[in-house]
Amino acid sequence: MSRYRGSVCRLCRRENIKLYLKGDRCYSDKCAFDRRSYAPGQHGQRRGGKISGYGLQLREKQKVKRSYCLSEKQFKLTYSRADQKKGITGINLLVMLERRLDNVVYRLGFANSRPQARQLVRHGHFLVNGKKVDIPSYQVKAGDFVLLREKSRSMQVITDALEAVVRRSMPQWLELEKDNFKGMVKADPVREDITMPIQENQIVELYSR
Ligand code: SF4
Repeated sequence: MSRYRGSVCRLCRRENIKLYLKGDRCYSDKCAFDRRSYAPGQHGQRRGGKISGYGLQLREKQKVKRSYCLSEKQFKLTYSRADQKKGITGINLLVMLERRLDNVVYRLGFANSRPQARQLVRHGHFLVNGKKVDIPSYQVKAGDFVLLREKSRSMQVITDALEAVVRRSMPQWLELEKDNFKGMVKADPVREDITMPIQENQIVELYSR
């Protein structure tokens, strides 16, 4: 599976939005987007030209895909599963992305960024309902609880992240018992819980072409 290995700050600049892929750095004055909020590359500063309908759809898809750090193949698979579900495909897609275990670990504050959360999940640091789960795409549901394994609780990277979680707001559908290293999924996420500006209908139109 192809994985993007270039500069992640370039992705924020390309999508014209902070995607918070680098943890602490994103909140500091070293953030590349804050310093150079124009597209990367030789012609990046010429942004502002007319964008086609297809271009708009593509950018919207890329923004969401990059924000959740998925490859094209993973994103398309999630989309086709969202399309098979009842309801509005675009909303189903966003809800499924939010319910990913790596995203939940990030949202709860056990990690400073989604890439970091994914690595922690892959390394088996979390239990879901008491069982080890090391699959980042695992879909949590209302009533589940996510627990940091006892032997992982002294990890500096996790204690640092838990201390820094106050700079982000906790979504209403999640609750963290910080002292017990435990996160509760109080409800399934709804569209209103996703505050990043996303036009999901553009993604649906792109894949319906
Ligand atoms: Fe994006 Fe974070 Fe890099 Fe800033 S520091 S450009 S928010 S990844």
